[in-house]
This record gives sequence, C-alpha cells and structure tokens, in this order.
Amino acid sequence: MARLRLKDIRHSYMPNPATDADYALKRVDHVFEDGGAYALLGPSGCGKTTLLNILSGLLRPSEGEVHFDTLDVTGLPTEARNIAQVFQFPVVYDTMTVYDNLAFPLRNRRVPEDVVDRRVREILAMIGLEERAKRRAQGLTADDKQKISLGRGLARPDVSAILFDEPLTVIDPHLKWALRTQLKDLHRRFGHTMIYVTHDQTEALTFADTVVVMYEGEIVQIGTPEELFERPRHTFVGYFIGSPGMNLLPARIDGNTAQLGGQSVALPGAPRRLSGERIELGIRPEFVRLGREGMPVSVSKVEDIGRRKIIHANLEGEAIAAIVEEDGEIPAEPRVIFDPAHLNLYADSWRVELEGGR
Ligand code: ADP
Ligand code: MG
Repeated sequence: MARLRLKDIRHSYMPNPATDADYALKRVDHVFEDGGAYALLGPSGCGKTTLLNILSGLLRPSEGEVHFDTLDVTGLPTEARNIAQVFQFPVVYDTMTVYDNLAFPLRNRRVPEDVVDRRVREILAMIGLEERAKRRAQGLTADDKQKISLGRGLARPDVSAILFDEPLTVIDPHLKWALRTQLKDLHRRFGHTMIYVTHDQTEALTFADTVVVMYEGEIVQIGTPEELFERPRHTFVGYFIGSPGMNLLPARIDGNTAQLGGQSVALPGAPRRLSGERIELGIRPEFVRLGREGMPVSVSKVEDIGRRKIIHANLEGEAIAAIVEEDGEIPAEPRVIFDPAHLNLYADSWRVELEGGR
C-alpha cells in the first residue's frame, strides 16, 4: 500500500499545447493518502481516465511528477509500480478458464499454489462466479467478463493501490449495488488505497470517504459527501451533486443583503471579499421553504418523487426548484423562504466566504 502523490501535473495529448484549453489536465496537485477510499467524480471528458492512467503509468504526464511514498515513479512503467487497475470494459484472457484468469496475477508473482487456490476461491465467491470457475472466459457475457476483470484487480493483496475506472458500467443495475458494497467491505478488511472513478454521484457518495470532484481538467473540490452537499466550493459541484442540483440565482450584493431582481434576501454575513463579474446566490432545493410568506413565485410544474415532491417555479424570472414533503400543500399565492444557514454565495463560479465564518 502506498501514499500516491501527483505533483504539479499537467497533461496534453497535443504535441504543442498553447492555451489551457489544450490540456486534458490543466493543473493537478494532489495526495491520495495511504489506505484511503477515494472516488474521482466528474462528467465524461473531464480528465478522470487521464489522471488514473498517469497514476498507473500507462501515460506519462507532459509536466509534473508522480510519487509513491518517497519514490519518484514518473519514469517507471506500470509493471514497476505494483498497481492493480480495472478498466471500464472487460480485459480477459479468452482462452483461459475463469479460475486461471483470476489466478494469473498471483502465479505471475510466483505465489505458492495453495495460497493462489484459497485466494481465487474467495474472489470467485465474491463475484458470484463459483459455478463457472472451470469455463473458458470466451463465450461468457460482457457482465461476467467484467466481473472477471474486477476479480483480477482484487486478486493480489500486496498492491500499492487499486484503481477502478468506471468498472461497473457494463454490469446490470441490480448487481452493481452488491458489488459496490463488496468493494467497500474489502476496503475495510484490507485497507488498500482505492481510487474509484465514476460519473455517477450515487456511486461516488456510497463508495468513498473522500470524493474528489473534477471539472474540465481540474480538481474543483475534495471533501466528504456532506461537505460537497453543504458547501460546494464551485457552482459545478452544487449543480452536479444533488437531485435536483443547487439553485443558482443571479444576485447583486449590498452589504449583507442579496438582491434577486426586486426581492432581497438577508445573508448570514457580508462577503469578506467580493470580486467577479457573475455573482450568484446558491440554495439547495431541500432548503427552499414553500408557504405563504416570503418571496412570491409562480409554480410551473410539480414532480412526484416518492415521499417528496419537487416543485419547479419561477422567482423574479429565474427557474427555481424546491423539495417539499408529499403532503405539503401549495398555497394559492405561493411564496418561498430560503433557510439562511444554507445560503452559499458565488463569484464567477467560486464560493465566497461570508463574515462570521461562513
Ligand atoms: P474522462 O475519463 O473523464 O471521460 P478522459 O481523461 O478520457 O476523460 O479525457 C479527457 C480529455 O482528453 C477529453 O477531452 C478527451 O477527448 C481527451 N483525450 C482522452 N484520451 C485521448 C487521447 N488518447 N488522445 C487525444 N485526446 C484524448
Ligand atoms: Mg474515462
């Protein structure tokens, strides 16, 4: 196991990158602590796979260094890094049996056959392929093949880290949940450094203690699921995490008051420093209270989501969502109040601290 450090990494797939836009990773400086369970979360194309491949050594960064503990591994190939990597799509040896596929990384390292057998049986049980152990991988479904890939990644107990690149993409939804839970258990039992790439917030939030959110080639926030929910550092995090995401309303700030069109909202404190072209007030739909008091809105749509409802409305010309209990009534002249403890202020997409510690 190891502590993985990405030191001032930049990466471009172009021969002569000029502007920031030419970089798949603009600047990444980050430490994955030894034994941590991390999720790397972000939309397609934001640089997750690029970052993972730089860690595993499949890709050499244009700039910067990769360190495993105190060792600079930037110039070392994958084999020398002692890393297990599970890819988005199955990579299996078709002519080998399921059993031999799983045994391969262990036999490769000359692990005694009785130890191999014990480990392989354990993995077979975990991925639910005991019955098919003696079958050739060829002819199995994509689902089963991906389970083999996953199992192979977990086979060796002595790796520095295990990297998962959207490993459950081709797995059916029912099994996804079970496998994710098993990965989490495995992390608790063996304490490997694990980095799990996904574009799915539910996957990220259930798997990881720490979520690293990426957007357009940069890490925009690192935090616990609670921190990402309560204090999104960037509007992208506010919008990407949550369902629906955070409401973002253009505002003008005057002391500790935010003006939304003709309405004003009292902030818990004045912003410490405010500079930027675009100022927005952020409030999650969970903290918008709908009732007879506050700012008038017009409701455009009510969406039923089981025990709660999402109210889509218009406030001073801006779309806004509120989550209310199923039995919550919508008054004839609906108004909204924002819970002041959950207001966030943004200048050019980045969160601004307010006086009084918020
Ligand atoms: P993610 O895994 O988050 O979807 P990637 O790391 O695969 O993102 O891609 C980041 C950016 O780099 C994207 O704009 C993608 O088009 C580009 N890219 C990825 N791989 C290559 C490649 N081999 N050659 C050129 N561009 C690439
Ligand atoms: Mg990818």
